[in-house]
Amino acid sequence: MRGDGRLSHDLDPGEKGPRDACGVFGVWAPGEEVAKLSYFGLYALQHRGQESAGIAVSNGSKILVFKDMGLVSQVFDETSLGSLQGHMAVGHARYSTTGSSTWENAQPTFRATGHGSIALGHNGNLVNTAELAEMVAELPGGHTPRHRVAATNDTDLVTALLAGQTDDEGRPLTVEEAAERVLPRVRGAFSFVFMDETTLYAARDPQGFRPLVLGRLERGWVVASESAALDIVGASFIREIEPGEMIAVDENGLRTRRFAEAKPRGCVFEYVYLARPDTDIAGRNVYLSRVEMGRRLAGEAPVDADLVIATPESGTPAAIGYAEASGIPYGSGLVKNAYVGRTFIQPSQTIRQLGIRLKLNPLKEVIRGKRLVVVDDSIVRGNTQRALIRMLREAGAAEVHVRISSPPIKWPCFFGIDFATRAELIANGLTTDEIGTSLGADSLAYISLEGMVESTTIAKPDLCRACFDGEYPVELPDPTLLGKDLLEERPGRDSTRHSDVDGVDALVTGPGAGDALRRP
Ligand code: 5GP
Ligand code: MG
Repeated sequence: MRGDGRLSHDLDPGEKGPRDACGVFGVWAPGEEVAKLSYFGLYALQHRGQESAGIAVSNGSKILVFKDMGLVSQVFDETSLGSLQGHMAVGHARYSTTGSSTWENAQPTFRATGHGSIALGHNGNLVNTAELAEMVAELPGGHTPRHRVAATNDTDLVTALLAGQTDDEGRPLTVEEAAERVLPRVRGAFSFVFMDETTLYAARDPQGFRPLVLGRLERGWVVASESAALDIVGASFIREIEPGEMIAVDENGLRTRRFAEAKPRGCVFEYVYLARPDTDIAGRNVYLSRVEMGRRLAGEAPVDADLVIATPESGTPAAIGYAEASGIPYGSGLVKNAYVGRTFIQPSQTIRQLGIRLKLNPLKEVIRGKRLVVVDDSIVRGNTQRALIRMLREAGAAEVHVRISSPPIKWPCFFGIDFATRAELIANGLTTDEIGTSLGADSLAYISLEGMVESTTIAKPDLCRACFDGEYPVELPDPTLLGKDLLEERPGRDSTRHSDVDGVDALVTGPGAGDALRRP
């Protein structure tokens, strides 16, 4: 960023929250203001990434990229959008991974190809980064600056691979030909939106970890991370990009091909927290899933209380469901500052102690003397609930019963959510009662895995639940590459193969892993 290069996500930077997936957007629409459509598309996807934003536009003969650190509304203005003229665009809103909150790592990534250029945006996280880096090094001229890649950036490796493929005679392949060769070799989570000068492409990994949808404008096509972004730019939902599918859109219309067999494992945490409530994933609305999680939670973990309140905003739908099923009235117990988000002001120690209060203020008149059920979507480190419970007691709550609409998070995510390290996850090593005590709650309960899964209406085998049950749907790199304590509790692992954490190259694993390895 301008200045010290470190942005604080929260008003309380000491309380580094888990970081989300990114948002991607693409549009092919001659005659439309594609940069502005991308701007509003990204604006609708801002919750998926708030670190940097970028838009690349093609006018048919050249691609221009504009990107910077900050929110979509901070990065772009009339002038910059006005300079991005063309008939198609790709856009990206990003949460950086550990230590790489830099302009260079903002997306879309851009590369020259043998035919022109390519711009690419990525939501997800790859798990065979080391292998991809080797493939880049083996490209003709792989060690020249043209192919040089920032070590921590898995996305740029893919862009380099797509840009650098050649046929047997050494002639450069087109981006489309290159994609057919490269995509089957990429492992992990990817929803890619990319383009060359004439064609918009979108591709989704065989598991379909992250969402990606296709929409239609009167005079064009749109792809976006979430269906809500289609609504907002006035596109009608056509269908999802299928797991293992790549689509291409140009003046000849839409064509599709399958680069891998679909093995659907959509991220269940999209339903719990990540996606907007007005988004549908795999045909299921996110808001309805969250309300249903709350209803089931009430059935599984009832409590005698006077009022159900939500931890705003993400806990609200589940709190509504809990109230409905339990018959306990729902009320607003906390007021959230609607403008809270990224701030460039580093709070002093005195201000930092205010912590969560900078974001949430209790409604004392509502809370005083009440036995409360406080519903939130998830507990990661436990900081939010611990601070909240203290604040509610100070506001006069008689009892505080915490109910969480997802099971305990015990495992790191390698597929696009930068959760805490295993050691930092409060549910790792503590029982639910112990966690409740540590948070200062009168009682604590989580929804069951089955209750959460059934609320999505998606068949359990079709969901990735790895952060809850440790069943990773994609083979992870050798445990020696994943480091010490990471997979220790998994049966069948040979603990003697665990390597020295310090010997692990940041390249080898994704952001969750890097983070999980580097900190105690
Ligand atoms: P904790 O305070 O326990 O570390 O984090 C839990 C809180 O963070 C919950 O209120 C939940 O809504 C929120 N949360 C859960 N997952 C994510 C995420 O991936 N990114 C962000 N920014 N917040 C999250
Ligand atoms: Mg929350």
